[in-house]
Amino acid sequence: MSKVKSVRQWLELIKKENYLIEINKKVNLRYELSAVGKKADGKYALQFNNTFFDDKEFKIPVITNLLNTRQLIAKALDVSIEDVLKYFSYAQLNPIEPRIIDKKNAPVKEIINLNPNLYDLPIPIHHEKDGGRYITAGILVAKNPRTQVRNISIHRLQVLDKNKLGILILPRHLFHFFDIAEKENKPLEIAIVIGVDPILLLASQALAPLDFDEFGIASRLYDEPLELVKAETVDIEVPSQAEIILEGAILPGVREFEGPFGEYPKYYGPRSLKPVIELKAITMRSNPIYHTIIPATKEHLLLGAIPREANILQLVKNSVPNTVSVCLSEGGVCRYHAIISIDKKNEGEPKNAIFAALSSSHEIKHVIVVDKDVDIFNAEEVEWAIATRCQASKDIFIVPNALGNKLDPSSANGISDKMGIDATIPLVDGNSGKYEKIKIPGEEEISLEDYF
Ligand code: MN
Repeated sequence: MSKVKSVRQWLELIKKENYLIEINKKVNLRYELSAVGKKADGKYALQFNNTFFDDKEFKIPVITNLLNTRQLIAKALDVSIEDVLKYFSYAQLNPIEPRIIDKKNAPVKEIINLNPNLYDLPIPIHHEKDGGRYITAGILVAKNPRTQVRNISIHRLQVLDKNKLGILILPRHLFHFFDIAEKENKPLEIAIVIGVDPILLLASQALAPLDFDEFGIASRLYDEPLELVKAETVDIEVPSQAEIILEGAILPGVREFEGPFGEYPKYYGPRSLKPVIELKAITMRSNPIYHTIIPATKEHLLLGAIPREANILQLVKNSVPNTVSVCLSEGGVCRYHAIISIDKKNEGEPKNAIFAALSSSHEIKHVIVVDKDVDIFNAEEVEWAIATRCQASKDIFIVPNALGNKLDPSSANGISDKMGIDATIPLVDGNSGKYEKIKIPGEEEISLEDYF
């Protein structure tokens, strides 16, 4: 299979496999679209062809749940599920420079509008207490004002007016750029890209260092340079195959209220004063498709999980080379719980793996280490390992008062305990027979249908 390089190609592919369902019924962008999407979470991708908000109807289709299983992510990358993390790490270590093309060959330039109106886009309200309509699948492109190196990242964006968005900027790369610009009282130019293929979405979540263009990771994952095109009103390059581009700038010295917003831990992030984006232009295809990510669904969680897991696997392997794989489980909102499988050779290795995982990111809260015979992507098997291979007084340890994640409501404004659980079989018991798993001869070869 050649790699999918636009969201249209991706929709075509999953439609052929009956994973994409088209909905022609009129659906309310206020909660209803989000509710239907949530019901289909992990089961289907959806395309809503007729939506409305108050008395305004939209003909721009809205898509959601585009890659909400690990199988789909593996399919998008064209590797096996086991190889996803290795492949993502490889791409991160071996980026390819993107290519800039002429705008006459860029579908995203079919319509150019210098009088942008966000109310012309089918932007939903997702959760009950959300402060308003939110763009949730917009890849924001900006440049470091000092080095001009590009950065891409996804931010929650609240519609404040027809050409104004409130933005949450966590203290990472974009935060740093805006800080530099604002200190000089200059706007920070940005472009927001909506409607891209799974590879570009995944690459946007990479945990790359500062001044590392994440578009290069996407290019490696495609096996060829990503095609970019110059924006109309800002000095930024954007993917030519995207559906919709919003151009504008984050304004210096301006703050407006943004939030609350239903976030990935399944609680609301608070309302507070945030920076504001003013839009100058919108460009799009002549028949654009709008993508929304419903917060806290598997699409949202897994997009963040894969790049984080790839990063943790590298770091844990540095400490425990016989580490097999890492899973940020969905029950742990793909952020707080790391499950690690190792091919244990020495006692003590599970604890070293736990230290490495805990130090990889402030987000990691609980780490569970299991033997390689346990399927870490199967929550029932992981619980079984804890139930039968762990004694709390010697296998569990707690580190009080470390830095955690502020969105975890049980933390004291981010101060959080950390816990490690060693659920591996003691090496001394390995061959004793105590831990011999029960087995029915022939079970694996049997296909149930042959007996019905
Ligand atoms: Mn970055």
